[in-house]
Amino acid sequence: MYETLRDKVTAAARIDRTEAAWLYEHASDEQLSELATIARNRLHGPTDASYLIMAIVNYTNVCVARCDYCAFYRLPKTSGSYLLSFEQLCQRIDALVEHGGDLIGFNGGFHPKLRIADYAELFGKVRRKYPDLEFYELTVAEFMYYCKVSRLSYDEGARIMYEAGTRWITGGGAEILDDAFRKRHSPLKYEVEDYYAAQKAILGAGMGSTATMVIGFDETLDERLNHLERLRAFQDDVDGALASFLCWTYKPYSTDLGGEEVPTSEYLRWLAISRIYLDNIRHIRTSVLTKNEDALLGLKFGANDFDLPTEDEVTESAGATISTDFEKILDAARQLGFEPRKREAFPLRVPRTGHAA
Ligand code: SF4
Repeated sequence: MYETLRDKVTAAARIDRTEAAWLYEHASDEQLSELATIARNRLHGPTDASYLIMAIVNYTNVCVARCDYCAFYRLPKTSGSYLLSFEQLCQRIDALVEHGGDLIGFNGGFHPKLRIADYAELFGKVRRKYPDLEFYELTVAEFMYYCKVSRLSYDEGARIMYEAGTRWITGGGAEILDDAFRKRHSPLKYEVEDYYAAQKAILGAGMGSTATMVIGFDETLDERLNHLERLRAFQDDVDGALASFLCWTYKPYSTDLGGEEVPTSEYLRWLAISRIYLDNIRHIRTSVLTKNEDALLGLKFGANDFDLPTEDEVTESAGATISTDFEKILDAARQLGFEPRKREAFPLRVPRTGHAA
């Protein structure tokens, strides 16, 4: 079986979910690394590894979604809940600039008092103050909630954000895109097809988006494969518009769900499966945020890109530790034979039906 699949991957033929499951369950680490590297090197130079320095700025931890895997949120008006002022937000952005960073990913909870128009105004102000930075504004999951409470369709919400200058609404809040998983852990957040409807509206309005996945809750292999299968079909449907796929690992500390962290070996195996299966996503990203230097091993398992994060309260609340000793992290990549290169934000790419160039 392995030889057959090796021939398929070498010939750039698609593997199906049964073959992906076989590889995950039966191939050795070395075999997975080999196949993922064949797939990766079709799109990237063998020693290429790109990165950027970014901060995830969490403007509010107020959230009514109550996901049981989340250690970050606070219910409205409870102790420890916050909504950052514009000045506080700018202080966080200034800290990233001091670290030589280029990109801010905004991420917050589902705050019941905020609306799409509030975010369009806030992000516009931020962009005017920091014209040289790139911003990921909202995640798909937040965008869905704020459209709902603003009584806007996804098309209307996306048009408002686009016209206000937003260029990226990224695929955060995806965790495992499987409805059985969502019902178990996050029933108030969204249903999977609705998630993709929102992401399609975002792309259709001319904005860019990305794909993400988080593993290590209690999801089954079938649920993980459902995530990859639906994502690959969506990416076909939108002409390859999603710029990248980032997989990271659940941090269980201080959450209601609890549990154990996924070992690095399991993470690397899943990264390899993602690279091999998602043949229509160019950039596969490994997660320094949740795996620190171990994440760089992901470059041997199909990844070609990573972030050097300076902050993210969501994962830090659940046990992630962030180091700003960037040279140490980059050395880990060099010792594996890669030549890490700081990159710009990915070019905006939207389907042919989108408005942007
Ligand atoms: S994961 Fe996001 S949506 Fe879920 S409770 Fe936490 S902040 Fe809210």
